[in-house]
Amino acid sequence: MNVTHLECANCHANYEARTLQNLCIKCGKPLLVRYDLTKAGETLTKDSLKNREDNLWRYREVLPVENAENIVSFGEGWTPLLKAQRLAETLPIKLNLFIKDESQNPTQSFKARGMSAAVSMAKELGATKLAVPSAGNAAGALAAYASRAGLEAHIFMPSDTPRANVVECQQTGAFVTLIDGLITDCGAEVAKRKEAEGWFDISTLKEPYRIEGKKTMGYELAEQFDWNLPDVILYPTGGGTGLIGMWKAFDEMEAFGWIDSKRPRMVSVQSDGCAPIVRAFHAGERFAGEFENAATVASGLRVPKAIGDFLILDALHKSGGTAIAVRDEQLILAVKEIGTAEGLFVAPEGAACLPALRMMIEQHSVKETERVVIFNTGAGVKYLECF
Ligand SMILES: *Cc1c(COP(=O)(O)O)cnc(C)c1O
Ligand SMILES: [Zn+2]
Repeated sequence: MNVTHLECANCHANYEARTLQNLCIKCGKPLLVRYDLTKAGETLTKDSLKNREDNLWRYREVLPVENAENIVSFGEGWTPLLKAQRLAETLPIKLNLFIKDESQNPTQSFKARGMSAAVSMAKELGATKLAVPSAGNAAGALAAYASRAGLEAHIFMPSDTPRANVVECQQTGAFVTLIDGLITDCGAEVAKRKEAEGWFDISTLKEPYRIEGKKTMGYELAEQFDWNLPDVILYPTGGGTGLIGMWKAFDEMEAFGWIDSKRPRMVSVQSDGCAPIVRAFHAGERFAGEFENAATVASGLRVPKAIGDFLILDALHKSGGTAIAVRDEQLILAVKEIGTAEGLFVAPEGAACLPALRMMIEQHSVKETERVVIFNTGAGVKYLECF
């Protein structure tokens, strides 16, 4: 309703928003949604939020759907921000530690946020067949939202994807193809066949709307912290959509006058078996090269080449944050540590934030009493093979 246009995040070319778009035709990079924020701010105010629905559509003025009838929702978003007192007590310094528990989303991961927005828009703009390469949770979310919208979902996953992700897609009506390879190979298969098959490619950041759904994590954090953003955010990074989305949300909220120019230090956490962002960040590169022989049990982090790499790296640098790789053994151990202290059975991706935080403490890059948020991006129960 307040969308003005789409803008290339790299070359700033503008595109029409009311038609299906993928990447920038000029430079091949992601398109971002731009809004008339003055108009949006006429009805979207801090006060107005007090009486709104407890899902991400509470921020509808800064979401892209024009006609509310096209919204495809299971009640995603507005997940709890849990104070993690007992886990904090296991750390060598005193921190105000929180877990944003995204496992409570429909289909048990934060992929639901992006898919709710993207499938709603695909429906609104007339797509009927959606295709996606996925490391697991995106597939489960797409399958669910597509079925609810009455659209076809064509899903391509590595054959060693956690079994829960494969079965949930099959049981919610998707067409599932398993590929001997990585998510990048799955993406290549979608790219090769989409034209002939009439599929709309809903790969993360290859269409403009999944990031809009995921950016609501930034709005929620601000609202849940009473408009005072935390000092540090640790984010398990694959494609980086959520991190880029939150960064975009912070700018929008600053434009509304809701927050000042201070930003949390953004920290990308990866597995050392697939750490393209960590490598590029420490080498001072603007883009991240493909990570060879990518391997990690944290399947959501197994993204050897992210199309939004430069946007992730920008946010890390501008925020004074960093990028940290942890070993798979560490992140698996951390699942039990978090579970024992807090009673949450977290996804291995989310668990990776704990050893990363310990490394930050050792390096004195987080200080006593700072407010630190760990993102638990999914549910441990989908990864039984890991335990
Ligand atoms: C997809 C996924 C990630 C990575 O998310 P991005 O926003 O693509 O970086 C992390 N954790 C889980 C559980 C995921 O499914
Ligand atoms: Zn461009």
